[in-house]
Amino acid sequence: MKKILIIEDEKNISSFVKMELEFEGYSTVVEEDGKKGLDTAIEKDFDLILLDLMLPSLNGLEICRRLKREKNTPIIMLSARDSVMDKVSGLQTGADDYIAKPFAIEELLARIQVVFRRESINDSQVIIFKDIAIDQEARIVRRNNEELNLTNKEYELLLYLMKNKGKVVSRYTLLENIWGYDYEPETNIVDVYIRYLRNKLNNENKEEYIQTVRSVGYVMRQ
Ligand code: CA
Repeated sequence: MKKILIIEDEKNISSFVKMELEFEGYSTVVEEDGKKGLDTAIEKDFDLILLDLMLPSLNGLEICRRLKREKNTPIIMLSARDSVMDKVSGLQTGADDYIAKPFAIEELLARIQVVFRRESINDSQVIIFKDIAIDQEARIVRRNNEELNLTNKEYELLLYLMKNKGKVVSRYTLLENIWGYDYEPETNIVDVYIRYLRNKLNNENKEEYIQTVRSVGYVMRQ
């Protein structure tokens, strides 16, 4: 049974959503306070978090930002504020989707299903790029059928780039998603790890797999 954490301080919304989700066969936990919600989200494992933006003690954006340092639980932001800026900042902090209040419950259920479908594809899939294959369940990377010995961070970095293959990923995005700390903006840790990774992938032709996009970041492009 999929477990969903609802962090929402408006009781009429949380109790309605809880009831509907349980009717659909999900198990739910409700938190009404921001800090407490974050603690629960970190301590226990959920399959999804519905996260309100305006909350007592800690707002939704901050919760999202802090939580994404710890784990990759998918998050759908709920907010009455439907400005483009809110949506952009929500998605930038790592939320998977954003839904404006008031919403129809059918719309919320549909978005939840989209997230779960995406997750189940993402997590079981073997991701392939050229002759590199990542088996996510086994956490094994092979190049040309030969297993590569990657460190944890190298693995995360490669996985992130391969999940986003064809897209240019900025250094900042990599830093946020893989290291998750507030490093100095000048830190070159991403570049250092890209170098390690390139050496392990192909020592001879370093840009064969991961290309540098000058002053932006990196891309894995065919
Ligand atoms: Ca609220």
